[in-house]
Amino acid sequence: MKILKNVSLKKYNTIKIGGPAKIIYFPENHNEIKSIKNILQKKKTLILGNGSNIAFRDVGYKHDLVCFKKLKKSLSLIGTNNIYASAGVSCAKLAKFAHRHNIPGFEFLYGIPGTVGGALRMNAGAFGSEIWDNVQYVTILNKNFDLVKLDKSKFKFSYRKVSMKNTSAFIDVYFKTFKNRKFQKNLLEEFSNKRIKTQPINQWSSGCVFKNPKKNISASSLIDKSHLSSTRYGGIYISNKHCNYFINDGSGSCNDLEKLIKIIQMDIYQQHKVKLEKEICIY
Ligand SMILES: Cc1cc2nc3c(=O)[nH]c(=O)nc-3n(C[C@H](O)[C@H](O)[C@H](O)COP(=O)(O)OP(=O)(O)OC[C@H]3O[C@@H](n4cnc5c(N)ncnc54)[C@H](O)[C@@H]3O)c2cc1C
Repeated sequence: MKILKNVSLKKYNTIKIGGPAKIIYFPENHNEIKSIKNILQKKKTLILGNGSNIAFRDVGYKHDLVCFKKLKKSLSLIGTNNIYASAGVSCAKLAKFAHRHNIPGFEFLYGIPGTVGGALRMNAGAFGSEIWDNVQYVTILNKNFDLVKLDKSKFKFSYRKVSMKNTSAFIDVYFKTFKNRKFQKNLLEEFSNKRIKTQPINQWSSGCVFKNPKKNISASSLIDKSHLSSTRYGGIYISNKHCNYFINDGSGSCNDLEKLIKIIQMDIYQQHKVKLEKEICIY
């Protein structure tokens, strides 16, 4: 198993900020996961996917990190239209795989730059769909560090949130497909074009920094109408394409990011009495 010590965490998140990692383990299969059971058992051990919703503090992460990006990537059809995916598969690959097999309901995942495991943890979603909509059951690593298959009914999930009661990590997932949903050949491309038009997809960010406060009120529109869209702190600034994306200009630090988050939260509260909750995970 690949193990890295004292590497910069900037390489392991899409906003490219953070100090050094003490140690990162990259298990490639179930046996290797089991072999680091004692590491995974530690309270402060953190699982890392593609780092597209994570920022690390400038002092670095002093505890163990286990990255699932190198987990053997398996993606297969079960029967004619159900899908199996391991946690390390990228959301884009899953979306394309479903599309190739004319299976509807996964198009929204195209353009989410995370792993399937990270998407399950965050209940990632877009264009009115969320990943847990499609789940049938998942294999998890439970708190006793056994691999257990659990039905979707064992989880409570809501907007960007999943109950993790007895779950340390998602290992793989079985998706069911909707019989009543019609496959639309152009939908994947449509969603992809929408993203390109409205989101700064090629810049260093973590996607949306805040959760939308209500279904019909987006954090982005609140920031925009509060005249905060050109706010910057140090090397982190608000994207002029999408106000909920904070961009690192290359010189940004986690301190800059956290300061900018505070400024926006305080201003939005003062102007609208709305408390913006972070979507981004900061460690
Ligand atoms: C340009 C851009 C666009 C984005 N668009 C969207 C969007 O449309 N919708 C959306 O919801 N998000 C979006 N995001 C955010 C992000 O891509 C998603 O939240 C994604 O699901 C995170 O996956 P990851 O593998 O990168 O997870 P990471 O960022 O590595 O981790 C996120 C969290 O999940 C945990 N985690 C990771 N893997 C596992 C696992 N196997 N088991 C248990 N916990 C795990 C981590 O500990 C952490 O708490 C976007 C981000 C960017 C940069």
